[in-house]
Amino acid sequence: MCGIVGYVGKKDVLPVLLGGLGKLEYRGYDSAGVAFVKDGQMKVIKAKGRLSNLREKLGDVVAEDTIGIGHTRWATHGEPSDINAHPHTNTAGDIAVVHNGIIENFSKLKNWLISKGIHFVSETDTEVVAHLVNYMYEGDLKSAVMKTIKMLEGSYALGVITLKEPDRIVAARKDSPLVIGIGKDENLIASDFPAILEYTKDVYLLDDGEVAEITADNIEIYDVLGNRVHKEPFTIDWDVSQAEKGGWEHFMIKEIHEQPVAMHDTLMARMRDGKIDLSEINVTEEYINDIEGIHIVACGSAYHAGILGKYVIENIARIPVSVDVASEFRYRMPSPLLSKKDLFIVISQSGETADTIAALREAQSKGAKVIAITNVKGSTISREADFTMHTQAGLEIAVATSKGYTTQCLCLYMIGAEIARMRGEMSQEEYDRFVKDLQKIPDLMKMVLDKKEEIQHLASMRFGDVNEFFIGRGIDYALMMEGSLKLKELSYIHSETYAAGELKHGPIALIEDNTLVMALATQKPLIEKVISNIKEVKARGAYVVAMTQDRYREQFEKDSDLVLTVPDIDDLFAPLLAVLPYQLYGYYTAVFKGCDVDKPRNLAKSVTVE
Ligand code: GLU
Repeated sequence: MCGIVGYVGKKDVLPVLLGGLGKLEYRGYDSAGVAFVKDGQMKVIKAKGRLSNLREKLGDVVAEDTIGIGHTRWATHGEPSDINAHPHTNTAGDIAVVHNGIIENFSKLKNWLISKGIHFVSETDTEVVAHLVNYMYEGDLKSAVMKTIKMLEGSYALGVITLKEPDRIVAARKDSPLVIGIGKDENLIASDFPAILEYTKDVYLLDDGEVAEITADNIEIYDVLGNRVHKEPFTIDWDVSQAEKGGWEHFMIKEIHEQPVAMHDTLMARMRDGKIDLSEINVTEEYINDIEGIHIVACGSAYHAGILGKYVIENIARIPVSVDVASEFRYRMPSPLLSKKDLFIVISQSGETADTIAALREAQSKGAKVIAITNVKGSTISREADFTMHTQAGLEIAVATSKGYTTQCLCLYMIGAEIARMRGEMSQEEYDRFVKDLQKIPDLMKMVLDKKEEIQHLASMRFGDVNEFFIGRGIDYALMMEGSLKLKELSYIHSETYAAGELKHGPIALIEDNTLVMALATQKPLIEKVISNIKEVKARGAYVVAMTQDRYREQFEKDSDLVLTVPDIDDLFAPLLAVLPYQLYGYYTAVFKGCDVDKPRNLAKSVTVE
């Protein structure tokens, strides 16, 4: 979702704002704008569409030794347009505001402001903030913002500047991410780390309800009651090169290829003396022996990782696992059913997914202890969960996840193995074999990636498709949910995932001559069953691309049009390899279709609204 950047210091503010917004492009946006003070005036320049439109409008303006705020918008209230783009201002144009989130009571506030004679120019919820700050302003921007946020319901990260105090930015947050970059004789605000990495790795993480007053040489943070808050700086452990493409055509393909390293790093972060060690996240023997079930809650690909985790954990630890989409979980009527004896796990790559944060809070309010799996240290989820297991995927920029997803799956394999061992469901020998197999994954992933031309060729033949099907059974079915989503997100081709045995109960009606059916069958006990399903769709004209492990290849040759394989490994781990060809397939299909691979239409990387 939208990106915010703000800068106060000696540098020319515009390259800092535009560069920062560029680094946040992956969050998805439809328009962009900046506000800055120059020659005693507040300048506001906005443009619908890509950042290049804004750059063009700005021309070669220079604005040194001043303040500025910038925004990329992902419209929630009012169509994408120059007028609705942020920053928004008060009527006099001397207060400018950028906002990420939704002001839920904006129409009540707007009517009230209109009754006071205030004229609105945009359709956004955000504009009320600019007028309210003006209404509350009595010579101190920080106090005006504090009074304003008391009136707001909903979610916001705000950056506010005024011509009357042209040396400071005031920032505030509730349920939308915002960090403060600590520089030397300069300071910044941003929605996410990449926007400021070039200038500093030291940040303050603003908490909900807090307000910050930022000048070039000072940062003061206040709580809801206006008391000063002392915060320890947090150091980002990513570096600026991770936000660059480094010779690859797209972030998506770069990140697909980073998976062997990401998996290795995630595994190694939790391995001690050849064993998985989860003691830091409090997965202790006593606790685990006491639980009766596991509840996983997440959104999008992280939800798919949760489903895959269900199959793995139930298989090895013999404990029931339920998986919910976060937006469904939290609104279960009259309230979600949770037992204190359930282990509750939330998964979110960014750690800022609004629905998942809400589910986490809901679970905690019911007394559950929450384990989070997230990629971003310092994110809201990582700070609010009782225990956090960080994936070591590095910065993920492409909107569609690849290494984020596989490292989440890996964490669930590790959690599953530890639970199985502690509950006596796995012998020492089985456990050692399991850990050895997990350690083989990074190298085997490299072998799968080496065969990418095969997938590129398939994509070159099928990129004109309108409809495709992804089928599998058991854990392969879970994996296909992600395979199908990659195709949808990246190439906009409609695709459906079905449990292979379910096809004949309805969806088989959609199979026509040459309909592509991707069939995944890596689990020995289910191979014959999937082959029957392949025969069913073949008989109705489908073009079948089967995927299996090398050792099962022959069984598929007779009935499939094309057989793809991944290297041999214990069946339980094969889906971790099989996901790569589907990621590559989505990627190459999108490239052949000329889609915007790193920023698919309508999507945003970090979904910070409900
Ligand atoms: N709700 C605001 C708008 O529609 C902000 C959206 C955003 O977070 O980009 O303008």
